[in-house]
Amino acid sequence: NPVIGVLALQGGVAEHLAALERCGADARPVRRVEELAEVDGIVLPGGESTTMTRLLDTFELYEPLRERLAAGLPAYGSCAGMIMLSREVVDQDPDLSAVRPLGAMDVVVRRNAFGRQVDSFETDLDFAGIPDGPVHAVFIRAPWVEKVGAEVEVLAEVREDPDGSGRSAAVGRIVAIQQGPVLATAFHPELVGGDERVHRYFVQIVRARLNAAAQAK
Ligand code: GLN
Repeated sequence: NPVIGVLALQGGVAEHLAALERCGADARPVRRVEELAEVDGIVLPGGESTTMTRLLDTFELYEPLRERLAAGLPAYGSCAGMIMLSREVVDQDPDLSAVRPLGAMDVVVRRNAFGRQVDSFETDLDFAGIPDGPVHAVFIRAPWVEKVGAEVEVLAEVREDPDGSGRSAAVGRIVAIQQGPVLATAFHPELVGGDERVHRYFVQIVRARLNAAAQAK
């Protein structure tokens, strides 16, 4: 079974580990460089991207993680994890310099994008590549994707107006993307019990990578 790490510095670590295990992965928390070296894929959970940046420095993981991602390590980021995987972050906040994204995806994301009124909301999304109906998505002070490069595939956009005003800027926003073996969602599938389809999708990406590497030998 593929070994999939969950970056365990802060945020929704336990939920991701449990979801990955249910998808048949050997899921392990990653806090040290030696642990990072052992994984076939990694999940960057939600949390706070400013804090995550600081902790990556403290644990001396920033550069090793950036290098493994640059070398093609499959990765999945949810919410703050999506922010960390991007190449550029925009934000209203002046503390923006506190977020140093890892540049694994050719996208610009906006932090805390949905605004105060709809700080948190839930909606159903059509998710390209995921069968059996819409995916229920939980957004918590979530980012959206503002710009995508040519190699980025858009997997889901917000369909319904979350604040019901009929003029929300949320409608049509990109909230799930993939670039090669790197996947990101602005929402938190790990918080929806009983539906592991997004994690299953990521585990498939990791398995496909391992098979391709084995064939090449
Ligand atoms: N607002 C957080 C950030 O900017 C993300 C929130 C989350 O991960 N739920 O990092």
